[in-house]
Amino acid sequence: MSQTFIATFQQIYAHKPDGLASAPGRVNLIGEFTDYNLGYVFPAALNFRTQVLFRARTDQQIVVHSQNYPGESDSFSLQAPIEPGPSQWGNYIRAMAYVLQQAGFTLCGADLLIDSDVPQGAGLSSSAALEVAIGGALNQLSGLALTPAQIALFGQQAENQFMNCQCGIMDQMISAQATAGHALLLDCETLATRAVPIPADLALVIVNSNYPRKLVDSEYNGRRQDCEQAAAIMKVATLRDATMDLLLQHQNAMTAQQFKRAHHVISENARVLATVDALQNSDMAQLRQLMQASHQSLRDDFEVTVPATDGLVEICQAALGANGAVRMTGGGFGGAIICLCAEQDVALVEQAVAAHYQARFGLTADVYICQAGTGLTVQVFS
Ligand code: ADP
Ligand code: MG
Repeated sequence: MSQTFIATFQQIYAHKPDGLASAPGRVNLIGEFTDYNLGYVFPAALNFRTQVLFRARTDQQIVVHSQNYPGESDSFSLQAPIEPGPSQWGNYIRAMAYVLQQAGFTLCGADLLIDSDVPQGAGLSSSAALEVAIGGALNQLSGLALTPAQIALFGQQAENQFMNCQCGIMDQMISAQATAGHALLLDCETLATRAVPIPADLALVIVNSNYPRKLVDSEYNGRRQDCEQAAAIMKVATLRDATMDLLLQHQNAMTAQQFKRAHHVISENARVLATVDALQNSDMAQLRQLMQASHQSLRDDFEVTVPATDGLVEICQAALGANGAVRMTGGGFGGAIICLCAEQDVALVEQAVAAHYQARFGLTADVYICQAGTGLTVQVFS
């Protein structure tokens, strides 16, 4: 963390910070839209992080600035009902305070300063990184003794209850609980986790399409409804409990759209478990096939890709051939794709993106070469 970050805090608040909470963004290797269907996901944390310097206040106010939004700040009282405020990003902080108060916790006032290198709106979960880091700061300041998993669950509630995004638990759980150098198999029903090492020579290459995302939350929430309706027709609690046989038995009772959504989720859950094995065995042929099938399912059944992300996947897969596995990652409707390949082949991805993406789509992509990072950390300054 830079000294200027601390100096800026002191400039704004006229005091030294008490400590620092830090939480990563994430990339999902596979298991897309399975979390809210209580299935399996397999994300890794990024080395991009959201940092929050914090200090206790005695007046029951929370004041927050973000270095990513210079000139805009938010403040609110913990003694009045917490409602959405004028700052779009400030609402994430209000949301965390709101859900913690709803759960019966007494919060302490705080001065907060945010800084982050997690790209925003790229499907790399800058919002979850923010929620988990803020949760870590409030947990420390108010002495709540929450576990990382509990902080993650409050982050999800913040999105669901305050930010009107019906997301599942994946993003917050990986941000809170990641182990460096590992991906995390997460069972979204039991919340059981298993850290799986990422082979040392395998690079996580993320290519952000920079496609302008629109109506993402409403599309996202609509997909979730389709899944719930398909589960209800099959008389299972969630799609986690459905099988392909069960789905085919009920095909005539569903709309074509409900069938396709459920088909994606059921097939994707199986692909997650197969991917864990393939990664452990460094089986690139298997990884490639699983990630390609995931992408096709997201394109044709779940219908969350756009030509720009389909094109990026084609461009990168063609460049890597048998030596890479590629698919879209995250919430879709733009956002990023992920390539798994050897370090020495990263340049092939960079060259292919530079040569073909802008020419085909009129957009410039950003390529990030990432290592699997660690989850939430909270440090108290002496
Ligand atoms: P994603 O989670 O895919 O990056 P979202 O739309 O869910 O995209 O979350 C992005 C939003 O999170 C931003 O519009 C902003 O409100 C908030 N946010 C993320 N990072 C920061 C930050 N460093 N400072 C302030 N707000 C942030
Ligand atoms: Mg988000």
